[in-house]
Amino acid sequence: MTDMNTVRAEYEAFKQMNLSLNMERGQPADDNFDLSLPLLDIVGPGDVVTDSGIDVRNYPGGILGLPEAREVFSEQLGIEPDEIMVGNSSSLELMSSFLTWSLLKGVKGSSAGWVTDSPKLIVVVPGYDRHFSLAQSLGYELLVVPTTPQGPDMDKVEALASSDASVKGIYFVPNYSNPTGDCLSQEFAERLVSMKCAASDFTIFADDAYAVHHLVEPEILAPNLLSLAKAAGSPDRVILFGSTSKVTFASAGICFAGMSGNNLKHWSKVLSQQSIGPNKIEQWRHVRFLKAYSGGIGGLMRDHANILKPKFDAVQEVLQGTIGNKGLASWTDPKGGYFVSLDTSRPVADKVVDLARQAGVALTPTGATFPGGVDPDNRNIRLAPTRPPLAEVKQAMQVVACCIKLASAQYD
Ligand code: PLP
Repeated sequence: MTDMNTVRAEYEAFKQMNLSLNMERGQPADDNFDLSLPLLDIVGPGDVVTDSGIDVRNYPGGILGLPEAREVFSEQLGIEPDEIMVGNSSSLELMSSFLTWSLLKGVKGSSAGWVTDSPKLIVVVPGYDRHFSLAQSLGYELLVVPTTPQGPDMDKVEALASSDASVKGIYFVPNYSNPTGDCLSQEFAERLVSMKCAASDFTIFADDAYAVHHLVEPEILAPNLLSLAKAAGSPDRVILFGSTSKVTFASAGICFAGMSGNNLKHWSKVLSQQSIGPNKIEQWRHVRFLKAYSGGIGGLMRDHANILKPKFDAVQEVLQGTIGNKGLASWTDPKGGYFVSLDTSRPVADKVVDLARQAGVALTPTGATFPGGVDPDNRNIRLAPTRPPLAEVKQAMQVVACCIKLASAQYD
């Protein structure tokens, strides 16, 4: 049999297995959720007044969230409690508010709403599809720069930001990026906060969704964008976002935004127009749960890592064992976060995803990691190993590797 025949036979054998596996969704697994089950009854009828004396059933408390929650989640972002606002259940929703109000009114220091300037945002590829679709549907034009192992390609970011006053910001994931797992280096962070920008109100929208989602120890020490911005004399340039969607319950937790104290005053005034305040009951039970957890948020994240790390290891082992050093693909080996990013050597990503689907393995649609859903090189595939059980991750990766071999052989 030729190589091609062997690979085809292997593929047909997988098809005969009638598999139904899913490596598409960046979701926690049920055993991850189980770690947070005590949340559900940690606040009872006798606990409706917080330590700071706020009755969580009523309006008073303000737009910034419970003081106790501001303390707990400022730790997650590595900032001070008076530099954070704590909101409801979705950081995407909070980011959407910031991006929308920026269009209408600008940010602190803007002379007008950005909408009058045909605003542009720099985004990083491969990246997170919901960032792209949110910003594009609001009317921002997206300027694409490639990611590097140190974060966004800073030569390109600096060139774009310095040349055009309608380039209003950058929107990206600084730590364990979705999907590559890249982390912003100290050098790139310093360049971001100190670079010359044509727009005086250029803003860094840093979605720190995976700030504490380490998979290995010692944990990578992330540069502190807000401290660096303050040191560089641009304290209001940085807005950090995060949530507990992959800490406690997805879409049923807490989100937050971190920024300088003066910026927080500005944004709390703006956001007070749309809400009297966030759900304090959810905040209060998160505070109670996370403080009671052995080791706090760090302890909980280590327990998550113990569940997730073997799945990430399985992705590496299967890929290395099947297509390693064969010139067919390269892939990331993230030290945290939720994804592995794979690039086929030939432009066959769509074919691989299609072959995998026919063999019962759902993968993130090709192009999802690029604005408009189109990968110009047709090479990138996002792998999401967190949700399926370990045995299914291994099985699914065997199929994916076989599809890469087959699609590459068919291309040659
Ligand atoms: N930001 C990034 C980078 C993500 O990967 C995700 C979910 O996958 C989210 C935000 C969603 O966050 P939330 O559930 O807080 O809206």
